[in-house]
Amino acid sequence: MKIGILGDVHANIEALDAVLASFVRDGVEKVLSVGDLVGYGADPGPVIARIREAGAVVVLGNHDAAAIETLVDLAYFNVFARSSALWTRKVLQDEERNFLRSLPLVHIDDSFVVVHGSLDRPEEFNYIQTTRDAETTLRNLEKRVCFVGHSHIPVGFLANSEAPDRVEYTFGNSIDLSRFDRALVNVGSVGQPRDEDPRAVAAVYDTATDIVTMKRVAYDVDRAAGKILAAGLPRVLAERLRFGV
Ligand code: ZN
Repeated sequence: MKIGILGDVHANIEALDAVLASFVRDGVEKVLSVGDLVGYGADPGPVIARIREAGAVVVLGNHDAAAIETLVDLAYFNVFARSSALWTRKVLQDEERNFLRSLPLVHIDDSFVVVHGSLDRPEEFNYIQTTRDAETTLRNLEKRVCFVGHSHIPVGFLANSEAPDRVEYTFGNSIDLSRFDRALVNVGSVGQPRDEDPRAVAAVYDTATDIVTMKRVAYDVDRAAGKILAAGLPRVLAERLRFGV
């Protein structure tokens, strides 16, 4: 089965629609989201609607939590994230808020786990940026594979249970999980990529071949950036989309 995994969408409906169309072309049968559906972008409502239409399994991200005033203290957000969180709180409808409130912090499937930040204390939304950070989550992993988001940087951390502290990493676009019995994959960001490539990123996990492929999907960046400016959100949130930073 092919599973499409969406990283941080961040209220970017243009990027989400382009990625969902690519999932259809790839024969994806199931859609997962590692959270942060909202925040930064100008279309939180349409993104939530589209995710629900797609029947995606979704976990709660820190920006989703900020939008429903739980778990996250805005004092720890930078000024741009904070103003977008306050704007998002204003524009969300009750029904959209209720959907975000229904999201779990961790989703455990038959063969994989989904979480926004890390598996140890998921409610703290910690970043996994080094092999040492990855070790803790790999040790807490009940299944073979864990999909995460949060840093917006696509990367795979791989290990075997006989040597759990020997974690390898890869920034490759094709990650072969078959040689490993533990894998942690950050699927990057659909709506606000930060690896200097403005195209949306998303992962497709083919359970038959045990390979995760990182897809780069072009979308109408100008349109998404224009809506951010028109909404009165900080200009930097529009500009960064053009550079993928
Ligand atoms: Zn994010």
